[in-house]
Amino acid sequence: MSLNTLQDLFIAELKDLYSAEQQLLKALPKMAKAATAPQLRQAFESHLKETKGQVDRLEKIFKKLGVKARGKKCKAMAGLIEEGQELAKEKGAPAVLDAGLIAAAQRVEHYEMAGYGCVRTYARLLGDQVAADLLQKTLDEEGAADQKLSRIAEFDINFDAQQADDK
Ligand code: FE
Ligand code: ZN
Ligand code: FE
Ligand code: FE
Repeated sequence: MSLNTLQDLFIAELKDLYSAEQQLLKALPKMAKAATAPQLRQAFESHLKETKGQVDRLEKIFKKLGVKARGKKCKAMAGLIEEGQELAKEKGAPAVLDAGLIAAAQRVEHYEMAGYGCVRTYARLLGDQVAADLLQKTLDEEGAADQKLSRIAEFDINFDAQQADDK
């Protein structure tokens, strides 16, 4: 596919995000299972629900554009998820592993925020206000998910991790 217009790039970037979200639908339940702290597990579970809604928003945009959602694999998200999964397999102090899961998850959220910020801006430039609003909604959710993880880390898990004995 050649990229001759901003619209071409808009579609290519949306496909990348669609692939990223599809991968996360599979990864988030595993992250939740790997988490020990109940509030962290719950954060992953509630972000899984939001992620389903984010997939719906992307599908709505693809439908309006008349293009297929598939066709591109987000390799970056595959790598980010792989790093999270590596961590989930590690043995160690539960709070330390939870802190590591948060670090992996926050990388994911920041990656998504970068992607959604770009496509939101393209949608505005292309005069597609409906798409811009949908993408802004998802961008806000990713930002809120990131902040929630920061709060869980700062007020709880990082402290517990610091107290953990090294065995
Ligand atoms: Fe997402
Ligand atoms: Zn990507
Ligand atoms: Fe890395
Ligand atoms: Fe997210």
